Amino acid sequence: MNLLQVRKMMLFTAQKMIESEPTLTALDQLVGDGDHGIGMKRGFTAIMVLLQDEKFQPTNIGDFFTQIGTKLMISMGGASGAIFGTLFRAGGKSITGVTEFDSDVLSKLLNEGWQAVYQRGKAKPGDKTMVDALAASATTASQLTSSKLIDALPKIAQSAMEGAEKTKQMIAVFGRTKNLGERAIGHMDPGAASMAYILKYMNEYIQ
Ligand code: ADP
Ligand code: MG
Ligand code: MG
Repeated sequence: MNLLQVRKMMLFTAQKMIESEPTLTALDQLVGDGDHGIGMKRGFTAIMVLLQDEKFQPTNIGDFFTQIGTKLMISMGGASGAIFGTLFRAGGKSITGVTEFDSDVLSKLLNEGWQAVYQRGKAKPGDKTMVDALAASATTASQLTSSKLIDALPKIAQSAMEGAEKTKQMIAVFGRTKNLGERAIGHMDPGAASMAYILKYMNEYIQ
């Protein structure tokens, strides 16, 4: 995929994330303060505006994702603004100069993004955060770096969804969900759902 195709994929993803607002809101109402859907909607609305602006002309795919991360960080707010902003900023920086988006590039973005998210928030897999979906997708991506993107992305997205599903069994270590203790069991972490949805929609676009 070239930069223009990546741009179209992320525009589609942004539209779908905006449409997911009620689902994400419902999840955060169960385990958090109920603002996650609104935050994601705000962030991805800002992304849509950016991607429809002809003056936005990133020089390469790394630069493109870095700027998406910056946009999310400044527009969203909340824990997830910093977390998802960091994912795309650090992920984008790790692929600076890249002009072709393939499974190897996606693997770098996810793995470097995961490391940066860990540095920022210290959440490990099992802590009931978006890291459970991100780490699962990054691990699968690093096993598929020589596959075609069209074959790798469904598996990467599937792993993210499985990682998000697993958060239902977890007790949280961070944020408001921590205060719920065992009462959080049975509910998916909203940030993990968002992470899984982002990859699901990217995959839907390319299939
Ligand atoms: P807030 O918690 O400020 O209301 P959101 O509701 O938008 O922010 O986002 C909550 C999500 O952020 C959680 O579901 C979780 O996935 C993610 N999150 C919170 N803290 C961390 C952290 N330290 N590391 C990674 N993700 C985190
Ligand atoms: Mg919240
Ligand atoms: Mg909040």
